This record gives sequence, structure tokens and C-alpha cells, in this order.
Amino acid sequence: MVYPPKTLVVGRCSRCGRRLYAFEDRYVCKKMNYVFCDVCARKLQYRCPDAITPLELV
Ligand SMILES: [Zn+2]
Repeated sequence: MVYPPKTLVVGRCSRCGRRLYAFEDRYVCKKMNYVFCDVCARKLQYRCPDAITPLELV
């Protein structure tokens, strides 16, 4: 597997700590300033940890 260059890393998942790349789907909670990978977003049922605010796909 070829790893993408570091410049494509746009942050880390607030839940699992996985690196997030610019070409991946990621989800943000604008209210609490969290970023989640798609796996964690699914586990959170696409909601912020407050269970009210929907996550937004970036
Ligand atoms: Zn994650």
C-alpha cells in the first residue's frame, strides 16, 4: 500500500485518533469543534457527542 504524503493529512479523528486525509469523507461537529472519521461518525449515528446536533459531512 502506498501512503499518501503528509500534506494531505488534514487532522485527526477526535474519537479514535486516526489521521484524516483530504480525500476522505470526514464529519465535523461545528458546535463542539470535533472532527470524526467516517467509521466513528457512523458509530455516533452521525450526531455530535451531545446527541442532538447532527454532524456535517465535509
Ligand atoms: Zn474515528
